[in-house]
Amino acid sequence: MNRFPAFIDLKTCKTIIIGGGAAALSKARLVVDAGAEPLLIWPEIDAATCAELSGSACLIKATPVRADLAGAALVFVAVDDAVDAEHWAGVARASGALVNVVDRPELCDFTTPSIIDRGRLTIAVSSDGAAPVLVKRLRADIEALLPAKAGALAEFAGRYRSAVKAKLNAADRRDFWEAFFNGPIAALVLRGDERAAHEVMLETINRPWSGQDGVVHIVGAGPGDPDLLTIKALRLLQNADVILYDRLVSDEILALARRDAGRIYVGKAKAAHAVAQADIEKTMIALAREGKNVVRLKGGDPFIFGRGGEELEAMRAAGIAVFVTPGITAATGCAAAAGMALTHRDHAQAVTFVTGHAKGDAEPDLDWAALAALKNTLVVYMGVTTAEKISSQLIAHGRGPATPVAIIENGARANQKIIKGALSDIGALVEAGEITGPALLVIGEVAALADGETLLGLSTEQRRVA
Ligand code: SAH
Repeated sequence: MNRFPAFIDLKTCKTIIIGGGAAALSKARLVVDAGAEPLLIWPEIDAATCAELSGSACLIKATPVRADLAGAALVFVAVDDAVDAEHWAGVARASGALVNVVDRPELCDFTTPSIIDRGRLTIAVSSDGAAPVLVKRLRADIEALLPAKAGALAEFAGRYRSAVKAKLNAADRRDFWEAFFNGPIAALVLRGDERAAHEVMLETINRPWSGQDGVVHIVGAGPGDPDLLTIKALRLLQNADVILYDRLVSDEILALARRDAGRIYVGKAKAAHAVAQADIEKTMIALAREGKNVVRLKGGDPFIFGRGGEELEAMRAAGIAVFVTPGITAATGCAAAAGMALTHRDHAQAVTFVTGHAKGDAEPDLDWAALAALKNTLVVYMGVTTAEKISSQLIAHGRGPATPVAIIENGARANQKIIKGALSDIGALVEAGEITGPALLVIGEVAALADGETLLGLSTEQRRVA
């Protein structure tokens, strides 16, 4: 550490900026943001600087005199001329102030870091001038990982600090705050629901401390590419004590979780033995009751053919605090990966998501007439096994046999495969394409636009479009 970081309350300090151009303005903004009213002195002050700072700073259009600097704690020198800068740095230092000279680290008593400002929560990053670009990138990384309401969370915790201190001994206090930031109260604050957070907080500190309840986050992991996780999903993964995950959650995504987080596989392989839904829910409840931060990680979006709704209801019925974080569903993830818009001014005014899942040899229980009649894009999840049945029902109800279809397997993953053809050939396409992984059927004119190999049945016209 080459320089000592300290957070200074500028509201009680005399802060001076010597200069009147853009550099002076940017330093002035910095200190005004910290609640100070700086004194900005220089014979020429830009009109834009005057306009922006009138009301928040004291502006003096004159050459500074020693008396101006008397009692100053911090002085920023932001003047163009190098000799002037050195002169004023010397004068300011002689009057007892700490000095910062813009772009002249060798003349600085202190430097200003790169700042992440979330109200009460402030993060400062500095490389002491060695690698400003690295600092900028780090700042962006930290910004992304820090919840938008992190400052509100710090403020909230601050309001209860003395109440918690009065009630609990030091060891319990540490446990309390660990559980607080990990648990439902912090999740409520971060969601912007402070009223509910206060209610739970009061109830928690007013009963004897015996550990805090855990929380369940039902989180969408998207179609498999880790870059398609939401920032919130990533944060929750890195905070989870235990993760219950599905077959569709990719290894790369799991690898982003905290290293010591528990991982429980609860996936169901088609036709293979599944962990019963009720058992999954029981496990989630039991872990939350142990005070754990539980992430239930599901492929795509938890509320689209993901049984997320049932899990939400089960948690609510058990009195467990539960939150849902959406994910990119297979349909939108695959469409983007295949370069095919699901709605299109020329080809489709609506899009419908259906499940092709059916028990045993049965047919999917769908309103075929409605689906066939619609001039829309039909996206079928879990439809590979029943593709032939879906195709013949749609054709029987009036959809054209030559309607383009695209089958997207492992969409938005490294091993993505896209094959295209006509609706009447869908069974042959599945077979010829040797589809074994998770796949979507996209049925409708837009399917001709998808990137990918045309195997069967599309007209020359449709191939040209493709
Ligand atoms: N909740 C998930 C869907 C779960 S149902 C979501 O919102 O995406 C499982 C079905 O989703 C699979 O049978 C397959 O049809 C589809 N699916 C999920 N991920 C996929 C992917 N990467 N590529 C293609 N289809 C996918």
